[in-house]
Amino acid sequence: MLRIAIDGPSGAGKSSVAKSVAKKLGIIYVDTGALYRTIGLYMLNHGIDTKDRDAVVSRLNDFKLELTFVDGNQVILLDGSDVGDYIRTPEVSMAASNVSAINEVREFLLKTQQDIADKNSVIMDGRDIGTVIIPNAEIKIFLTASIESRAKRRFEELKAKGQEVSFDKVYTEMLERDKNDSSRDIAPCKKADDAILLDNSSLTAEQTTEKVLKIVKRYKKKNRNFYMKAYSVLAAPIRFFQRIKPIGLENIPAEKGFIICSNHIAAKDVVMIAVSYPRQIRFIGKKELFSVPLLGWIIKKLGAISLDRSGGNVNALKASIEIAKQGESIAIFPQGHRYPGVDPSTTDIKTGAGFIAYHSGADILPVCIKTKNSKYTLFGRIQVIFGKPIRNSELGFDKGGSDEYTLATRRIFNEVLRLGGYNSLPELGEGDKS
Ligand code: C5P
Repeated sequence: MLRIAIDGPSGAGKSSVAKSVAKKLGIIYVDTGALYRTIGLYMLNHGIDTKDRDAVVSRLNDFKLELTFVDGNQVILLDGSDVGDYIRTPEVSMAASNVSAINEVREFLLKTQQDIADKNSVIMDGRDIGTVIIPNAEIKIFLTASIESRAKRRFEELKAKGQEVSFDKVYTEMLERDKNDSSRDIAPCKKADDAILLDNSSLTAEQTTEKVLKIVKRYKKKNRNFYMKAYSVLAAPIRFFQRIKPIGLENIPAEKGFIICSNHIAAKDVVMIAVSYPRQIRFIGKKELFSVPLLGWIIKKLGAISLDRSGGNVNALKASIEIAKQGESIAIFPQGHRYPGVDPSTTDIKTGAGFIAYHSGADILPVCIKTKNSKYTLFGRIQVIFGKPIRNSELGFDKGGSDEYTLATRRIFNEVLRLGGYNSLPELGEGDKS
């Protein structure tokens, strides 16, 4: 999962760049300014002075605002109607800037924005995305340009839309919005310490997009390099001291991501797999772990994905699908629980692995962790056996659905069992299918 935060002043071209980057990467684009604009529009339509804090706050519960996506494009519904271009006028721009300085308005929109970023790979633009909304974003960019070039762009944009405005007016309003947005006490528009500064005064939108894509590429490479460096230093000693023997490495084709499916003995299975699998695996970690000093930094550098577990398994499934779709590897455990000391062929199997496979289209790499009596003991030998990849097309998917996920997960898990020399799962009885 990849979260890109783009902040910066108005007219820096955030939205057009973010839109094309989203398209190229196959992730969604969230324009958070549109949310503030929608609230500004509502207040204007109801004759509320957007500088009157109390008046604005008193109306926040009077409307319904929904952020939805249609064919991957953001659509905002205000009381059920698409706001469309009504939020793009200079009056609404100013109203948005005014309401966005009100703490209650920001609180009101916080969860909507964070929910989307918790569940999806996104590129989100705004003023406080890297500082407040997604402080854990994998990539943060502060996009800016001189006030002259920004005003000129905005002026051309409005002219192209047939709106009659003078350049001077656009310039003065932009200056005022800049001042508003950067001098307010709450969530002012400022560069996060760890954001990359990108000044595009002399760049076209295409050139800016290219730059951002390069930053993403560099991030992925760096991230992989860090992981692989950690792997090259730590994996062999851990294998040695834990008596881990990887088997079947020749079954893993180069340069490809898999849904790695393994039996589950204990939490440390992930370490067993990570030190045996000679390429990067993305792991999902609880959001809270990312705030722990040092540990948070390390797991982020290793490419772990932060996940809000309050949403239960649904978020984890979505995150896994996202990772697999991006062609990266993720380890999952079809049993859904740890079963120390239990023959894995006698345990329950969930349907998550099949679900993730169906929705991501990714291939599977079966792995069996074999220990004495299916337990980890202090000096016991551990074999991590990799099987041949199972192509997604071999899983018999047609239209999806729980029966198909069950059958696919069983097919995968039987292969895991076969690798470890266990019996296959017992045949399904009639009522067991869904
Ligand atoms: O980005 P856009 O110009 O559409 O944003 C409209 C207004 O909403 C901005 O002037 C800014 O005041 C506010 N805004 C904000 N925080 C965001 C996005 C927009 O305060 N994350």
